[in-house]
Amino acid sequence: MNRFDHCRICLIALLLPVLVSSAFAITKPKTNTTVFAIIDLVGLDSDMVKVTVLPPTFVKDKPFIYIMPASVPGTYAQYDFGRFVKKFQAFDKKGKTLEVTRLNANEFAISTSEKLAKIEYWVIDTFDDLTDSLEVFNPVGTNFQKDTNFLLNYAGLIGYFNDYKSVAYEVKILKPTEMYGATAIKKKVVSTGEDIMYAKNYDELVDNPAMYSLPDTVSYRQGNALISVAVYSMTGVVKASFVANVLKPITKAVERFFGTMPVDHYSFILYYASPGRRDINRKGGLGALEHNYCSMYFMAESQDTNQVRGFLNRTASHEFLHILVPLHLHSEEIADFDFRNPKMSQHLWLYEGVTEYFATLAQIHDTLVTEKEALGMFRQKIFTQGFMSFKPVSLTELSTRVLEPEWQKIYPIIYEKERLSG
Ligand SMILES: [Zn+2]
Repeated sequence: MNRFDHCRICLIALLLPVLVSSAFAITKPKTNTTVFAIIDLVGLDSDMVKVTVLPPTFVKDKPFIYIMPASVPGTYAQYDFGRFVKKFQAFDKKGKTLEVTRLNANEFAISTSEKLAKIEYWVIDTFDDLTDSLEVFNPVGTNFQKDTNFLLNYAGLIGYFNDYKSVAYEVKILKPTEMYGATAIKKKVVSTGEDIMYAKNYDELVDNPAMYSLPDTVSYRQGNALISVAVYSMTGVVKASFVANVLKPITKAVERFFGTMPVDHYSFILYYASPGRRDINRKGGLGALEHNYCSMYFMAESQDTNQVRGFLNRTASHEFLHILVPLHLHSEEIADFDFRNPKMSQHLWLYEGVTEYFATLAQIHDTLVTEKEALGMFRQKIFTQGFMSFKPVSLTELSTRVLEPEWQKIYPIIYEKERLSG
């Protein structure tokens, strides 16, 4: 999710900011270009978490809108995370409440935003969401479970101010002292009850979820990269040491496939749900989501270690290979993701299909999968995709229209078809 902007510059354009900023340095008060947020995991109220947001100093004079994402990169579905925000309030620096208009599920307009000093609201976790439609895919969701687990995907907790998506974020997490926060982003441990996460902008914040639970972690080196593994298992049946042993051959195969490790650090963060949990049976509940330096997993516990190993093998190699596409090769719709009105490009076949193909290829290259097993996997794909759609599907049309309900229904075909054409 890099951004590249090129424009013509001239000497006056170069000098102007210097002149303006030196004049402003005398007359304007100190500006704050960071969004500060506090997420309180200790003062839980009926499974709701309180969020406090201190805005940056607004440099533009107009009403500001606080936006929770409609969707996030990599999910190809609309979730409307604003639905989980309750009791939204805005205050001036004297603590007086300011008028707020809720424009839709995701957007809050603050009428006198030049006076805005603080926002407070409460958030419900997506794991306990009972809505049948718009169900949030668990690896991108939130879980607030006192004493056991907090899954923090920031899209479900913190928003951004329109026109200020690119400012830095500092997020303070007030946490139970016995819990450890697993994340790939820069983190400062202030005390046993407080961590601070640093993101250079909103995209980076959303790209770096965290999981808090009793620590069960393993780290190891793969080439030039430090690989970290953090596991929360509801009944304790799955351990980080087991997961790390499954992951080691995969990261090794990927290193050989690329020739070198494409990142210097990477975190696998895994939530293992017990078979009795409703989430497992809900549509689309199990799986994982890729990020630039980590992947987040919602998996099913099982006493059958072969089953746990097999599912993790398949999922982790796919997520890790996403480093290639779309994380480091993508269209502008991904590079500057519009969290408000997500736009889909024609490239789902590239992002998901090619990744799925490479995931198998890397394992064949490293002899983790035999030729016979690979042919069996391809055969299964041909069989499965035949049931998903009886008529031909244009993969580029599916890519651009995937947010439409009719196309969303056949979205999983992208994982089956591409391995055939790849
Ligand atoms: Zn994928």
